[in-house]
Amino acid sequence: MNVVCIGSGYVGSVTGTAFAVLGHPTTVIDIDPSKIDLLNAGKSPIYEPGLDQLVRKYIGKTLFATTSYQPVHEADVVFIGVGTPSKQDGTADLTYIKKAAELIGAYLHPHRFTVVVNKSTVPVGTADLVTAIIEEASGLKAGEHFSVVSNPEFLREGYALEDVFFPDRIVVGSNHERAKNIMRELYHRLVERVSYEEISKDFAFPYNPLTPKAVYFETDVKSAEMIKYASNAFLAVKISYINEVARLCETLGANVLDVARGMGLDSRIGGKFLQVSSGWSGSCFPKDTAEFLQTSRKYGTELSIVKAAIESNRKMHEFVVEKIRRRLKILNGKKIGILGLTFKPNTDDARQTQASVIIQMLLDLGANIRVHDPKGMEMFKAVHPHLHVQYCASAEDVAHQADGIVLLTHWNEYLQLDWKQMLSIMKTPYLLDTRNFLPKKLLIGLGYQYEGLGIGTEQ
Ligand code: NAD
Repeated sequence: MNVVCIGSGYVGSVTGTAFAVLGHPTTVIDIDPSKIDLLNAGKSPIYEPGLDQLVRKYIGKTLFATTSYQPVHEADVVFIGVGTPSKQDGTADLTYIKKAAELIGAYLHPHRFTVVVNKSTVPVGTADLVTAIIEEASGLKAGEHFSVVSNPEFLREGYALEDVFFPDRIVVGSNHERAKNIMRELYHRLVERVSYEEISKDFAFPYNPLTPKAVYFETDVKSAEMIKYASNAFLAVKISYINEVARLCETLGANVLDVARGMGLDSRIGGKFLQVSSGWSGSCFPKDTAEFLQTSRKYGTELSIVKAAIESNRKMHEFVVEKIRRRLKILNGKKIGILGLTFKPNTDDARQTQASVIIQMLLDLGANIRVHDPKGMEMFKAVHPHLHVQYCASAEDVAHQADGIVLLTHWNEYLQLDWKQMLSIMKTPYLLDTRNFLPKKLLIGLGYQYEGLGIGTEQ
């Protein structure tokens, strides 16, 4: 099948590469020529473990990249994977989706049947909008020449290849038999499970061999669109919940690590997404919860639990700042080092991260901020030009004369640091580990004033 992926970001570049690996001639289209140039030079436009190797191997063979929409003309399936950022009021900005739909319409072949697949996270009803735009731009009839299908994406950055090649579930929303058949055929090999050995011939990416077979779930378009928001909001609620429990643990002297473990042993609850942090963030949860809440309000069915999770998350950011303030007292002029700017390790995605909110609060209190991240500094700088912080080449630079260090992202690199040497260059040995990730006993033994979240200070 001829596949086209519109957008070469975190979703488009991974999806496009995956279908190319599976043998489908696949073209990735982006309006940003710098990303297309990178792909054509055999490089991934984003940092995602394993992706560079695959792009290098398949570009020019089954994987192609261009800024032109011409390949849509020959396509059997066109995925839309462009961004849907938040507008000021929290609703999703569909500008990129509309533009992509218009251009797809302009290039659609009048004598082929093309499935247009919405992979971007979009509000319920967007498939109808995309259909109307394509009909208008192409003069072709929906259902006869093309059909718009919803196929939300569930990949996790940092594990994107594992998630795309070995998904838990593939959700397809459509009421069009021909389109459904084409989607079944396209996904057939992923549902049947490709072999990890086949996919990972040239590199290894994170993979759990116990992952069960994928469930291919067909539903109507609106339900598919809704599944994505309902899932992301649920995960955000789960994290907010354990973070609130962590705050209570701290007050009562319980240990949230044991509490979360004990809870997660119940198969009805499950242990995933019970890791305490300074709050959820990143390019998906904040915008998706905001859009979901706004939609619910617009239609008179406010999702009060989602609203509470958003408020609670804000409180978790504040809680972290409050802990620092309690320990270091007056922050005016204090040097605080931040380790980790991305919302989680193994990605360079630094959009809307908790780091930006926490750093802003610390700056407002007069602190001097030095930051480090193994992959995310470039993007963080680009998306937060208003944050006046010092970007450091290493974690050691961050520690230099610091009154305190705050670990926000649990990059493995930070586990490997020479913490003894770090201590020797700090001014005050205060270390706040917001992920309860570092070896607490060892650090206390070295002389750190170590604090985690929800675990107390006793050993
Ligand atoms: P991104 O910002 O990384 O990439 C979007 C790309 O689309 C950019 O490269 C941009 O230049 C390009 N683009 C914009 N308009 C275009 C147009 N008209 N034609 C061609 N290219 C165009 O975004 P992303 O993180 O890949 O997310 C894309 C969508 O997928 C969003 O709706 C997001 O919510 C959803 N999603 C993201 C993830 C994730 O982990 N990043 C996971 C699941 C779902």
